[in-house]
Amino acid sequence: MTDFDAAGLGPYAGDAPASEALFDRAQAIVPGGVNSPVRAFRAVGGTPRFMVSGSGCWLTDADGRRYLDLVCSWGPLILGHAHPEVVAAITEAAARGTSFGTPTPGEVDLAAEIVARTAVDQVRLVNSGTEATMSALRLARGFTGRAKVVKFAGCYHGHVDALLVAAGSGVATLALPDSPGVTGAAAGDTIVLPYNDVAALEAAFAAHGDQIAAVITEAAAGNMGVVAPHDGFNTKLAEIAHRHGALLILDEVMTGFRVSRGGWAGLEPVDADLYTFGKVMGGGMPAAAFGGRAEIMARLAPAGPVYQAGTLSGNPLACAAGLTTLRLATPEVYARLDATAATVGKLSSDALSAAGVPHVLSTAGNMFSIFFTDRPVLSFADAQTQDVAAFRAFFHEMLSRGVYLPPSAYESWFVSTAIDDGAMSVLEAALPHAARAAAEAGSAKA
Ligand SMILES: *Cc1c(COP(=O)(O)O)cnc(C)c1O
Repeated sequence: MTDFDAAGLGPYAGDAPASEALFDRAQAIVPGGVNSPVRAFRAVGGTPRFMVSGSGCWLTDADGRRYLDLVCSWGPLILGHAHPEVVAAITEAAARGTSFGTPTPGEVDLAAEIVARTAVDQVRLVNSGTEATMSALRLARGFTGRAKVVKFAGCYHGHVDALLVAAGSGVATLALPDSPGVTGAAAGDTIVLPYNDVAALEAAFAAHGDQIAAVITEAAAGNMGVVAPHDGFNTKLAEIAHRHGALLILDEVMTGFRVSRGGWAGLEPVDADLYTFGKVMGGGMPAAAFGGRAEIMARLAPAGPVYQAGTLSGNPLACAAGLTTLRLATPEVYARLDATAATVGKLSSDALSAAGVPHVLSTAGNMFSIFFTDRPVLSFADAQTQDVAAFRAFFHEMLSRGVYLPPSAYESWFVSTAIDDGAMSVLEAALPHAARAAAEAGSAKA
C-alpha cells in the first residue's frame, strides 16, 4: 500500500487525461488556455490541473485526484474550501438576488468590519486588487496634484499600466521585463527602486521630491516569493514620503486579514495614508477595497472630484462571503494559521536540508516561500538567483504525490485552518521524494 492509498487518495496515475483534454480545448479558445497567466504551468511545464471541487484543505481535479492545497486560491481561502458557513451566507444572499445596483446593507457591514480592523477611516469597495491599487493611485495623484509614483522591483500591484513595471509574480515567471501595450506615457511617471533600499528612496526623493504623488509598496512582498520588509523599512517609507508631501500607499491585497486580524499593519503599525485590500476580504468571491484617512477619501466621487465607480462593486454575494470569512477569522484562527505555516515551512526546509538542497525559507508572518538559492534574499535581484530547475523538479514530485504548490518559484505558499493531521502526513510522505528530485535536478545542472 502506498502513502496515497493510506490517505485515501487513490494511486497516482502519472498523467491527467481529463485535464489534458480540457487544456487542449481551452487553448483553442482562451489565450494560453487560462484566464490568469500563472495558472498555465509555464514556469514548471506540464499540464495545469483543472479543478472541479474543493473541500477544506483538499482540491479535486477533473481526473478525480485529490491534492492538499497550499495555494488557497492565491491567498483568499484562510478557512479552506467550501467552509459551510461561508457557503450558507453566499447561498442565502443569492436567494435574495444577485445584484441590485443600489446600496445594500451587506456592504456597510463589510466596510465597518474593515474599518474596525485597520487604520482606515473610510473604505470604498471594488471588485479586484487591480482595481483597488489603480484607484488608490488615481486618488493619490488627485489629492496631491502630482504625477510620479515610486514602486519597488518585484512588488506586484495587479496589472495596472503604471504599476506593470518590474512587477514580479506572473511577469517574473514569464520573464517579461514589462508588458507590450503599456505605453511610455503610462509608465513614464513610474520610478522603480530596489526593495528594502532606503538609500535609493532618499535619492529618488532628492531628485524628484516635489513631483512624487505616492510611494506604493506591498506591506510585505509576496509576489517575488516572500521577502519581508527590513526592520523599519515601511516606517522609513512613510517618513520620507511625508517629509516631501507625498503619500504612502500600503498594498495589503495579499497580507490583509491573512497575516493578522488587521493585516501586516496589525503586526507592524505603518503610518500609511492609503491602504488596498483584496483576496481574504472577499472570502473567495471577487471583492477588494481601498481606504485611508477621511480627508483623502473625501476627494473621491461623489463626495469629491476624483472619479471611480463599479457596476458590481459591493456585490451582495461577495460581501456576504467576505463578511462571514472575516467574522470567523478570530485570534484563534490567526494563531492556527501561524502555527500551521511554521510547521509546513519547517518540514519542507528540513526535507530539503536532509537531501542537501541549497535553499532559503523566507517568511513574512504566516506567508512563506522557499527560494532554491544559497544566498540571503532581500530583493528581487536576490530572488532571481534561484535554481528554477530544482524548483520545477520539486514541484512536480509534490504534485504527483498529492500536494498542490504554487506553480512558480516566485510565489508565496498559503495555508488554511483546514489543514489537519491527515493532510500533514500526506505532506510528510511527499517531501523526502520531492527533496531528492530537487537535489538530482540541481546536481544535473551543476
Ligand atoms: C493579488 C495582488 C494584487 C492584484 O489583485 P487582483 O485581485 O489579482 O487584481 C495586487 N496587489 C497585491 C499585493 C497582490 O498580491
